[in-house]
Amino acid sequence: MSQISIKDVTDAREKISRAVVKTPLFRSSTFSEWSGFEVFLKAENLQKTGSFKMRGASNKIMSLSPEEGRQGIITGSSGNHGQAVACIAARCGYGATVVIPEGCSPAKEASIKAYGADLIYCGTTSSERLACADKFRREHGGIFVHPYDDPMVIAGQGTAGLEIIEDLEDVGAILVPTGGCGLISGIAIAVKEKNPGVKIFGVEPEGSNSTGLSFRNGKRTALDKINSVADGVRTAIPGELTFPLVQKYVDGMIEVTDDEILYAQRMLLERCKLLAEPTGAVALAAILSGALSGLRKGGKAVAILSGGNVAMPQLSEYLLRSGVER
Ligand SMILES: *Cc1c(COP(=O)(O)O)cnc(C)c1O
Repeated sequence: MSQISIKDVTDAREKISRAVVKTPLFRSSTFSEWSGFEVFLKAENLQKTGSFKMRGASNKIMSLSPEEGRQGIITGSSGNHGQAVACIAARCGYGATVVIPEGCSPAKEASIKAYGADLIYCGTTSSERLACADKFRREHGGIFVHPYDDPMVIAGQGTAGLEIIEDLEDVGAILVPTGGCGLISGIAIAVKEKNPGVKIFGVEPEGSNSTGLSFRNGKRTALDKINSVADGVRTAIPGELTFPLVQKYVDGMIEVTDDEILYAQRMLLERCKLLAEPTGAVALAAILSGALSGLRKGGKAVAILSGGNVAMPQLSEYLLRSGVER
């Protein structure tokens, strides 16, 4: 297993401190009352570029030598990772190429372009995209930045965990949405090595439960179909590097339904005035649906609001869908 330690996370924090925001940790009295836990929200929706992906991408790209950086940066992601890579590459003065799917939403395309990255259209699935990015790298050179399976990316994501345990005493549990598992691995390393008593739970949509399935099977297991409104965690299989870290550190996996996700997204907006994308509301959905067990009543539960990038026309659709009586 690759050795990533708390030292890598504290080094990452030092390195990226001027490129990322130390995001606020809000206490919600409404969600605390509803759930019986004391609920806190780590607002990565307020991070630069609108998601925590900025942390890992910054740590990776700011660690490159100028010679490496000058070769250009390449990644394959239509979403938050693509935006983060484009943003931090531009800030470092490096060129960036982002492979996005054919038929990518115009809003996502526009935001990656706005950071000055070049776009290549390729395929529809994430494995096709990563294959295109790799082909481009072999033909043109450049440094590939993986969205989760990279030690520098994992350490960067872990800085969110450091901030939580420094801002709040006696944390009982931290709930983290999982896709490729870079975020939860980084947070778990940072938190468990400082305070092994804090429980770490992964949360995923029931229609995209590859991490929970792999966790129960004791080995990486791929899904053959994926169906969820939470587009940031529609990953068919957890990472090669990240999954052993999940096995080592994570206390349990929780599943939520799309209805529960959209309800949590709506309540974040209505009650807390916080805008999350559906994936950003996945961890809170586990608390509000009563799925969190293994924490005493009144204990402190932190939900990671992992991102807030959602196009306004789509937001109104989500709000209408979440309006069903409960
Ligand atoms: C990428 C992403 C995730 C999942 O992160 P992994 O490191 O792939 O597990 C969760 N939420 C949002 C908003 C994301 O963009």
